[in-house]
Amino acid sequence: MEACYQGFDPVSYLHYNYTPPRADFERRSSIVPWKLSCLHRAFTEAQFTYYSQEEAREVHVQCLRWYGKDDDIRGDILVDVGSGPTLYQVMSGCERFDRVILSDFLEVNRRELQSWLQEGKSSIDWTAYFKYVCKLEGRSSSAWAEKATRLRSVVSDVLPVDVHQTCPLSPEFLPSSGADCLVSSFCLESVSHDLLSFNHALGHISSLLKKGGYLLLIGALGESFYMGAPELYIPVVPLDESQVCTSLKASGYELLQLCIYHLPPDMKVGVDDVTGVFFAKARKR
Ligand code: SAM
Repeated sequence: MEACYQGFDPVSYLHYNYTPPRADFERRSSIVPWKLSCLHRAFTEAQFTYYSQEEAREVHVQCLRWYGKDDDIRGDILVDVGSGPTLYQVMSGCERFDRVILSDFLEVNRRELQSWLQEGKSSIDWTAYFKYVCKLEGRSSSAWAEKATRLRSVVSDVLPVDVHQTCPLSPEFLPSSGADCLVSSFCLESVSHDLLSFNHALGHISSLLKKGGYLLLIGALGESFYMGAPELYIPVVPLDESQVCTSLKASGYELLQLCIYHLPPDMKVGVDDVTGVFFAKARKR
């Protein structure tokens, strides 16, 4: 898989996945607003309902299972595994943790993140993302600059990570008990060559999480490839919903939420063959 990532271009990747129609904040059926709402809801409380049943049907969303008590999440350390060049996945969590660690395998992605953190420069404008998350939090959208400042102030490190190693991150950055929460989006299935390797990678990242800690896992369903640059087709393990549940349970998690988004036809923009997206909130036993 390492060879498949030679030539990954953060700028192309961001444009393929993080601009309209996939990031259209005027439409709740767009995929990025859905991901941001799942993250917001996972960090806050169960009472937050994003869609009525009717709306959920319209926007192809199913919240399939709600297991047990749905906790509010906060703590000291949040680790995002396989951040890529993106920031959206920590925009809710940055309010609830004292320290956020970003990580990616590729230096080109770590540079893209550092460039925003240190100089405010980025290949796409994250302002609309910050504004949207502020709205989800019940704040005025003009609070977006405060949120951006908050995110910059809590990110302590942008580290190399390799989910195929038994210790994916250098151990000196985490207490021996592990992080309080892990987030990982579209990483494990797109860096593993088969389901076994996906399961091993899930086991490896779980070693970074303390007992009782939370995993928020977002990933592609039914996907066999995505484009990491023009002409760069990166293979993906095509997962289904039951495999995700089985893998989480086998890795020692209690599943708290599983929400599935089915891609409407206009979200299929030719940069991958994804058919759905899952969002799982799970607690390490
Ligand atoms: N998290 C981002 C998102 O939500 O869009 C990026 C996901 S991108 C599909 C997959 C990411 O996995 C890339 O940024 C890539 O550099 C990273 N990656 C590649 N090999 C990896 C490995 N062995 N361990 C961890 N991450 C890896």
